[in-house]
Amino acid sequence: MKAAVWQGGTKFTIDTVPDPVPGPGQVVLKVDTVGVCGTDVHITQGLFPSTPPLILGHEFSGTVVEVGKGVSKARIGQQVVCDITSHCGECDNCREWTISRCQRAQKSSGALANYAVVPAQSAHRLPEGIDLETGALTEPGSCCLSGSMVFPMPKDAVVLVVGGGIMGQFTVAFLKRRGARTVILSEPVASRRELGRQLGADVLHDPKMEDLKKVVDRETGGRGVHLAVEVVGKPELVARCVQLVRPRGNVLMIGVCPKGTTLPSDLYDLHYREVGIRGAFGRGNYFKKTLQLLPELNLKGVITTRYPLERAADAIYDSGQGRGVKLVVKPNA
Ligand SMILES: [Zn+2]
Ligand SMILES: [Zn+2]
Repeated sequence: MKAAVWQGGTKFTIDTVPDPVPGPGQVVLKVDTVGVCGTDVHITQGLFPSTPPLILGHEFSGTVVEVGKGVSKARIGQQVVCDITSHCGECDNCREWTISRCQRAQKSSGALANYAVVPAQSAHRLPEGIDLETGALTEPGSCCLSGSMVFPMPKDAVVLVVGGGIMGQFTVAFLKRRGARTVILSEPVASRRELGRQLGADVLHDPKMEDLKKVVDRETGGRGVHLAVEVVGKPELVARCVQLVRPRGNVLMIGVCPKGTTLPSDLYDLHYREVGIRGAFGRGNYFKKTLQLLPELNLKGVITTRYPLERAADAIYDSGQGRGVKLVVKPNA
């Protein structure tokens, strides 16, 4: 089969590699859609530890074409979306943290290839009404659903989402679904703001046009938002969120700040106003739940560009440049 193999830095080669063979408890998929993730971008920028050569791609869907020992042959032909890792449900992390941090996890192979091999447990059948392309959004969606469940949602809450990329869009949708009265989306790109409205944002803010604090004051009578979510990954925006929440308000970090960065906040203020702050990394226990909820979201237009396998490097580069919302690779197109 053909695979896009990451060779370090921004360099990729299109190589012919052996077709994957399913081991016991595994299935082989013909890959349909692979989402480009911020993590892929970070790997090519040296910001996320990884060793080449490597086949990237962890947000993907496909059709089961082969099964290993112990897996029902009835699964052949199923359209599925893949969780990145399996879980045992018994280890300390599974019991006390989340199943997405399982200490005995088995990983799927990279999906920027014609075929991928995954644990059968990680291949989830697509629900009615969800196509293979939309299904590939389950992983990024699950990170946002998991994040949106971290803090309680007070009655009539006004919440702020900073950043309207794919993760910001899902966060808007899930916070609205959780009962937020007003969702403010702050995003400099007009097309992303419009998409935010489609997904449930009530107030759209363009940081190039108006000070965010003015908008927050207007929507909250000067009190500050109940919850502010940073979905970009910039320490100064996390600090801005700390300033914009009300006393005992909460700040949620979904954006991935670079390793080694610190919070440029007035810690007196954070302490005095009793502000809560929490990180939310990854899909937690919400992968399956997200897949069930996808049919309820209006995701039309979220996938903005499709690339063939040969252009996987361009897809990752363009995603790093903030072009579009969600870019995907179609390895068998
Ligand atoms: Zn991802
Ligand atoms: Zn476990």
